[in-house]
Amino acid sequence: MRRSAMAVMLAGLLTALPVAAGEITLDGEPVQGALVTGTLTPGNGALEVDGRPVQIAGDGRFVFGLDRDADERTELVAEWPDGERLRRALDVASRDYEIQRIDGLPPSKVTPSEEDLQRIRREAAMVREARRRDDPRTDFTGEWRWPLHGTITGVYGSQRILNGEPRRPHYGIDIAAPSGTPVVAPADGVVTLVHEDMFFSGGTLLLDHGHGVSSAFLHLSAIHVAEGERVRQGETIAEVGATGRVTGAHLDWRMNWFDRRVDPSSLVPPMPGS
Ligand SMILES: [Zn+2]
Repeated sequence: MRRSAMAVMLAGLLTALPVAAGEITLDGEPVQGALVTGTLTPGNGALEVDGRPVQIAGDGRFVFGLDRDADERTELVAEWPDGERLRRALDVASRDYEIQRIDGLPPSKVTPSEEDLQRIRREAAMVREARRRDDPRTDFTGEWRWPLHGTITGVYGSQRILNGEPRRPHYGIDIAAPSGTPVVAPADGVVTLVHEDMFFSGGTLLLDHGHGVSSAFLHLSAIHVAEGERVRQGETIAEVGATGRVTGAHLDWRMNWFDRRVDPSSLVPPMPGS
């Protein structure tokens, strides 16, 4: 669902009082896996999504994500300094996900050893930490672009069966491309994690786009930026590779709102040539 597709206006509750009611405006529809942006008017209010405080930019803009399996209801509660309060229950549209079978993976990468499990947990903790940031930058607003063009070989949310064994769903978009193909920043951001070789994801890079929105780039053969570096949309940040748990060279692009995993393809136009 494109964010520009439909502006959903949620007017404030009508009251008999002669004061302008606050409003929550969303730029798009609440669908499982969506990154939803919106505006709080007036912008000096506070907002919670499902009981979780959400940062409001100076101009009233905010963002939140909906999980792959988000409940059919998400609740927004806004409150302004004058005591006005607005509660909105959003209906979240559900999605159907594909089933994807992948065979020929090394057995040790499908059923890791106890030693590997410890490494996996350490690496997952680093990624979790990087995704916890709540920077005031609003790099997530505006148009996003694909980090590279190629054949899409895996989509968000698909249920995975690896070497015949059911495993966790896939949360990224897999784009097949030869090793060494440049990967560019899909939006402005700050580099929050660079790791040369994680167990599952190999060469791994995370960008933070503000307000808890982050992107991850997996299986890289080379990374051209350092932690803390500011990058601009379109800048080359890395190269496609076949590192980690893969059957061939591709980029796995993931997007998060804090720990909620969202669908990168909801942010960009259709892949050229697809
Ligand atoms: Zn993948």
